Amino acid sequence: MNLESKYIWMNGTLVEYEKATVHFLSPSLHYGIGVFEGIRCYNTDKGPAVFRLRQHMERFMDSAMILGFRSLPYSADELIEAVKLTIRENGFKECYIRPLVYCDKIFHGLNLDATKPLIGIATWEMGSYLGAEGVENGVRANVSSFTRHHPNVTMTKSKSTGNYTNSVMAKTESIRLGFDEAIMLDPQGYVAECTGENIFLVRNGKIVTTQTAAVLEGITRDSLFTIIQDLGYEIMEQMISRDQLYISDEIFVCGTAAEITPVREVDFRNVGSGKRGPVTAQIQKAFNDAIHGRNPKYSSWLEYV
Ligand code: PMP
Repeated sequence: MNLESKYIWMNGTLVEYEKATVHFLSPSLHYGIGVFEGIRCYNTDKGPAVFRLRQHMERFMDSAMILGFRSLPYSADELIEAVKLTIRENGFKECYIRPLVYCDKIFHGLNLDATKPLIGIATWEMGSYLGAEGVENGVRANVSSFTRHHPNVTMTKSKSTGNYTNSVMAKTESIRLGFDEAIMLDPQGYVAECTGENIFLVRNGKIVTTQTAAVLEGITRDSLFTIIQDLGYEIMEQMISRDQLYISDEIFVCGTAAEITPVREVDFRNVGSGKRGPVTAQIQKAFNDAIHGRNPKYSSWLEYV
């Protein structure tokens, strides 16, 4: 992955890539005080368009509020314009977008009110997060030895940077074990989500996903509720046990970075036929049409740059 671009937007100005730095004493580095978003811009016949930009910016604001920031220096509307400007000035047709609330070196103790939130927006080129091969043929996952956050410890609805040490530990463990992705259970032992994706199961023609109590409310997940129902499938939110993973016909994970990626194996057990299933392929196609502006039904999801 090449993170380079011409400019990073920082607090109202476009800063050259090499100069976009933060001080060593930033409490964001020391205590994980930060909030981020992950968004994608896709090329369409009408030019580059950001997928569900407003929803992402609203979740960005919500994440900051959950962490405890009572106000941010920019509104959602201002940040939407800043994202579009950053993409335009960098000349990207397709890119990943990373807004981040961070703090400079003003900090006294662990009190959030004694620091000042700042905001940056970076953009970079990004292909398939779990690999083009994985998107076609499915990835291999394990049930992680790490548990997903308890909803009353660091919460699950905030994309706060500190929350992601949990994802980093689980993902690193999976890769070291030879898998591609980790499926994490909640503190009660039910399936929660992956390190950066929500999870869906297909069994006997019905599609199920987890309830949202202990997971991030994914924007891809939300989009898939509409797409799946439009395709004529029934979709249910329910508690999912580890053994239900093993007897699913198909499993797929979804997220801004991973888009829709089939899971072909869980804990050394083939999922269904051990390759991408037909329902997953159908949903992938409908999603790809939506993000690339090929289905007018979903045109309200695209914010042209
Ligand atoms: N769960 C976690 C833990 C994530 O980090 C992500 C990625 N943001 C998701 C789910 C999927 O969310 P979205 O579809 O909004 O990218």
